[in-house]
Amino acid sequence: MKRAGAHVSISGGVQNAPLNAREIGARAFAMFTKNQRQWHARPYTEEQIEQFHANMEEGGFRPQDVLPHDSYLINLGNPEREAREKSLAAFVDELRRCRQLGLIYLNFHPGSHLRKMDEESCLDLIAESINRALEQTEGVTAVIENTAGQGSNLGYRFEHLAHLIERVEDRARIGVCLDTCHTFSAGYDLRSREAYDATMDEFDRIVGFSYLKGMHLNDSKVDLGSHVDRHESLGKGKLGLDLFRYIMQDERMEEMPLILETVDASLWPEEIAMLYGFCETT
Ligand SMILES: [Zn+2]
Ligand SMILES: [Zn+2]
Repeated sequence: MKRAGAHVSISGGVQNAPLNAREIGARAFAMFTKNQRQWHARPYTEEQIEQFHANMEEGGFRPQDVLPHDSYLINLGNPEREAREKSLAAFVDELRRCRQLGLIYLNFHPGSHLRKMDEESCLDLIAESINRALEQTEGVTAVIENTAGQGSNLGYRFEHLAHLIERVEDRARIGVCLDTCHTFSAGYDLRSREAYDATMDEFDRIVGFSYLKGMHLNDSKVDLGSHVDRHESLGKGKLGLDLFRYIMQDERMEEMPLILETVDASLWPEEIAMLYGFCETT
């Protein structure tokens, strides 16, 4: 079964996320583990955790249907040691929050070199941060998201993802999330059957489908290779709808969270229904 959903709100507390997801017809969802604009947050209360579990059950969600997203403040490759340590501590806290909620994934952006060091050295720092974070936690897989390569963000080449995975000691706890908008903006075409197959083959060859834990389904406001991260509603951007049909009919994406981060949340119920419609087309 295909499991599409969206990055839903945690307004009022994380326990509300499964209910928000159910309301839009989702079979999977993403959420922040806490207010993503702040470094610190109060620990979850026992009551919150219990309510989260109850709402997961009510919504029919399993742990593998949820792809939590970490805070945008975190930069595991920050060239400044102190800032990197702060990011690492926050990342560890988020991994523990996922574990507390009984979840098994945490989706994150690799990091940025801030034009203070070369790409390879920064990727090495990120790998070291991931290793340290995994050592201090258990049960949660760190899921690296590919990026558009905006500014000094790394992770825009499949080789970057492979570089990180190669250096991670606990390979059982590392995964990848492909964002369609980021992939396209980074320069990998996805618009035609041939382009989709070629890009996915390249991903498989360099990273490997065994590491793919989920996808973000977004159209793109910007053109191929723009290196700008601007999401658009499905079918309203430069990617068009065909890509999403290919994904919904691709066996390799069975039973993994396929998450909308499109710009107009009021369209999510329609977008999700459309995606499920694509599964049935032959
Ligand atoms: Zn992201
Ligand atoms: Zn994304």
